[in-house]
Amino acid sequence: MSDDPVHGELDRLAGEASARVIAWRRHLHRHPELSNREAETARLVADHLRSLGLDEVRTGVAGHGVVGVLRGAAGGDGRVVALRADTDALPVRDLCGVDFASTVVDEEYPGGPFPVSHACGHDCHTAMLMGAATVLAGVRDRLPGTVLFVFQPAEEGPPVTETGGALAMVDAGAFTDPVPTMAFGMHVTPHPKGYVGYRVGNQYGASVLVRITITGEQVHGSTPWQGVDPMPAAGAVLTGIGQLYRQVSAFDPVTVTIGHVEDVGRFNIVGQTVTLWGTIRCARESDMDDVRQRLRRLAEHSAAAYGATAEVRYLQPVPPVHNTGPWVAAGLPTFRRVVGAERVTETGQTLGYDDVSEFVRLFGGLYVILGVQDTVLGPGGVPVPEEGGRGLATNHNPHFYADDDTLVTGVRLHAHVAYDHLRGTLLPAE
Ligand SMILES: [Zn+2]
Ligand SMILES: [Zn+2]
Repeated sequence: MSDDPVHGELDRLAGEASARVIAWRRHLHRHPELSNREAETARLVADHLRSLGLDEVRTGVAGHGVVGVLRGAAGGDGRVVALRADTDALPVRDLCGVDFASTVVDEEYPGGPFPVSHACGHDCHTAMLMGAATVLAGVRDRLPGTVLFVFQPAEEGPPVTETGGALAMVDAGAFTDPVPTMAFGMHVTPHPKGYVGYRVGNQYGASVLVRITITGEQVHGSTPWQGVDPMPAAGAVLTGIGQLYRQVSAFDPVTVTIGHVEDVGRFNIVGQTVTLWGTIRCARESDMDDVRQRLRRLAEHSAAAYGATAEVRYLQPVPPVHNTGPWVAAGLPTFRRVVGAERVTETGQTLGYDDVSEFVRLFGGLYVILGVQDTVLGPGGVPVPEEGGRGLATNHNPHFYADDDTLVTGVRLHAHVAYDHLRGTLLPAE
């Protein structure tokens, strides 16, 4: 229960906005755009923010980023809350089984063509934050501070020849005036519908993109001894990665995954290069340097054993999403008011990443997950499929789905978090 009538007003306005939020989400889901190509998404967002009469709508921030500024008219102590949604989609087929599923193919994207879908649910994030802007603009006269609506492109990582994402928005000066006193982000996940999950400490891991280029010497496939075949060296690196785990503590999880192998050979040509694309994830950020060095050594020496060379590049590093104890303690009453105490749950750590970590690290704040699937919590608080439901499909899976009914919960969560921070009740104790 709340003693502040504005909370009830936020809920009422969120209910009113709900049908539009669902319509936006479905439109975005049908028209997904890959990282750094979110032009139409940005246009939809900016048009909506302008229609609300915000004080400022900045577009073209670090690519297709949009920042809306809403200055409340109720005084306050100068607090500024940054609410963030990521806007980009993934090169994944859409098999989620809804009638607004995507059939989009991006023919031009580097490395493509790719099928494109919102297999990470950023369509939900974008629509929910558009809804929150509607709600908070509706209580502007009672808002004791400033809200930044941050629509961030390229969360999934831009093409490696481009820049983009959260840090690029910081570098572009998106947060120099006004400077946030809190950042808030959330992510839809396979947790039960309407559940809010939080974790004190690292919610997600540290991440870096890996590119290993193994170079040999091109030659006819019938005379491999006259050249240098980079393929067995690549195989040795892939196999050797399995041993890296035994060189670091088993008590702090690390994964090294090669998800894409790119060669330039042919059935009768030993190609010049093989490129391995992958990612390192570390539960503890301090392990990252060590794992990077071990992988570099493995690649260089494995290649040398076959007479080839390896060049290892690390790109797009992202720090862990970290929630401090005092911020979580400050946020819990708000989360419990919005979804009910029984649906606020502590979650385990995962080795996913979210570059909203850059904002939370710089400005303080919180990151939570919002459940959107037909699941129940099983042993250890891990979601398992609900009897008779649509099952469980993880983010980035072609079958990932998010239930429309829970979008209004995300709208309310944004609005309550923002208002509580501005009025001074959602603040970490010293
Ligand atoms: Zn994702
Ligand atoms: Zn995501």
